[in-house]
Amino acid sequence: ATPLVTAVSTSIGAKRGLLIRNRAAFENARRIDSLVFDKTGTLTKGEFGVTDVHGVGTSEEDLLTLAYSVELNSEHPIAHGIVGEGKKRKLDALEVRDYQNLTGKGLRATVDGRAILVVSPGHMREEGIGFDDTRYGELAKEGKTVVFLLEEGKLLGYIALADIIRDSAIEAVDALKGMGVESILLTGDNPKVAAYVGKKVGIDKVFAEVLPQEKASKIESLLEEGRTVGMTGDGVNDAPSLAKADLGIAIGAGTDVAIETADVILVRSDPLDVVNILKLSKATYRKMV
Ligand code: ADP
Ligand code: MG
Repeated sequence: ATPLVTAVSTSIGAKRGLLIRNRAAFENARRIDSLVFDKTGTLTKGEFGVTDVHGVGTSEEDLLTLAYSVELNSEHPIAHGIVGEGKKRKLDALEVRDYQNLTGKGLRATVDGRAILVVSPGHMREEGIGFDDTRYGELAKEGKTVVFLLEEGKLLGYIALADIIRDSAIEAVDALKGMGVESILLTGDNPKVAAYVGKKVGIDKVFAEVLPQEKASKIESLLEEGRTVGMTGDGVNDAPSLAKADLGIAIGAGTDVAIETADVILVRSDPLDVVNILKLSKATYRKMV
């Protein structure tokens, strides 16, 4: 590769909102046969809105107030959704102490002196805490993400949130298929939501409830299968897997850690730009071996 050709492509890319940080990885992009997408913020807009609030022996408002108070401390898209709902309802936040992130599972804090957890369905199952499976199944089947509130292991209720699938995610997966690239969905969210989004977008291979520390080893095992792997991500938790992939692609709207780790940054946060970066790599290095 002559540096000139690459430099020209780099500046063409930049004009189109594709920032190439690692040229060697960009060169390898033309060989990618497997593209791993994270769900939230990439295939979906990552803009959650609260759709259902259900208290168990607790009023809707009390439940939301607890969740709102805890989530004010989190940067997660789910937190933004709950905080937005709390603001809309003009809730007063309670005092929060000992806030703690349960990586890939939720949060824990002392709220107004009460030990509160906001957690995933996966965590509920692990801890053997019962909940209304039928209702949960209905919500999840509609693609809604459900979080549960607990106080000392006792269920206080649940909150369901919906995200919006990007139209261009469907186009991107379709275009990749046309290029012979297999799309794979890798998410920390629950299997039902993952299956829903995968089906809508046209992705056959779905891995759900993958903990942040497991995401990188999932990439590793795909590499061990002999695949050349691209991976998109936006969160702090995605950084290790972005580093492992042959091409780590950060979504422009993502966190600093993801952006600093990635080989390529998509300024417009558009999944179709994943296709564009592969095409640009092919066009740049076509005549070379
Ligand atoms: P993703 O792969 O979709 O980015 P994460 O690993 O960030 O997923 O989160 C996995 C799951 O952990 C979420 O679907 C949710 O159930 C739970 N979770 C993470 N952060 C929060 C939060 N701030 N509030 C409530 N639940 C959370
Ligand atoms: Mg994420």
